[in-house]
Amino acid sequence: MSEELRDLEGLGALVTGGASGIGLATARLLAARGARVAVLDLAPDGLPGQLTGFKADVSDDASTRAAVDAAAEALGGLDVLVNNAGIGAAGTVEDNPDEQWHRVLDVNVLGMVRTTRAALPYLRRSARPAIVNTCSIAATAGLPQRALYSASKGAVLSLTLAMAADHVREGIRVNCVNPGTADTPWVARLLDAADDPEAERAALDARQPMGRLVTADEVAAAIVYLASPAAASVTGTALAVDGGMAGLRLRPA
Ligand code: NAD
Repeated sequence: MSEELRDLEGLGALVTGGASGIGLATARLLAARGARVAVLDLAPDGLPGQLTGFKADVSDDASTRAAVDAAAEALGGLDVLVNNAGIGAAGTVEDNPDEQWHRVLDVNVLGMVRTTRAALPYLRRSARPAIVNTCSIAATAGLPQRALYSASKGAVLSLTLAMAADHVREGIRVNCVNPGTADTPWVARLLDAADDPEAERAALDARQPMGRLVTADEVAAAIVYLASPAAASVTGTALAVDGGMAGLRLRPA
């Protein structure tokens, strides 16, 4: 991707969960492409100078609404919303108590509903409005030990399609990306918790069709494409950035 491409000049973009990993890579790339960018995060600390941080919890409607309003004001409007904040959960249906189900669905699914609800009045005033949701291959892959997380991302996929249908005549495009396992602080935390992080990392790489994880920058490039004028006719799609995991049906020999 050319660093010279400034196709998002004049647009205001808000990225939730934009202080780390995929969200941070997305916020940086949006800014590099000319957008004014705000980040909504639980901890919007240490952001690069071109990003404006707003502290909010997407599981809290009032704080989310206040942050979206403040971001829209700071940016002079809102053209792009990237619903990316999310949390994980491991286990089968026997492992996660109801409270954990409520918590993960509250952040991963209702979090997107809250930010979208707050952002729609601003997006309606945009000439090129777009929403991109960070989903996951977990939405459709049938991953073991990920019942709750997969259910949350399955809901994100359905929500993306429903929102795309509801707002297509208003010119608001809605798409999602389905990352495979991505090399972010989230995965680093999981590996750090393992008995032998290096061996676990090697095993994780070996399970990928390409022999490596996808990078946050690669997922960000897909999100920014879906938010950009190049995708003007693209709505209601899920773009996999997973090194072939979902499509190739490859498993290590
Ligand atoms: P990350 O943990 O590095 O970053 C997540 C960010 O979201 C953090 O800055 C965190 O503070 C913020 N956040 C979490 N809960 C929040 C809340 N309630 N309100 C506001 N902000 C909140 O994670 P990541 O790997 O970059 O993941 C980002 C998204 O990508 C998530 O939706 C995740 O489900 C999805 N995803 C990740 C992977 C992966 O392998 N890393 C794969 C598929 C999908």
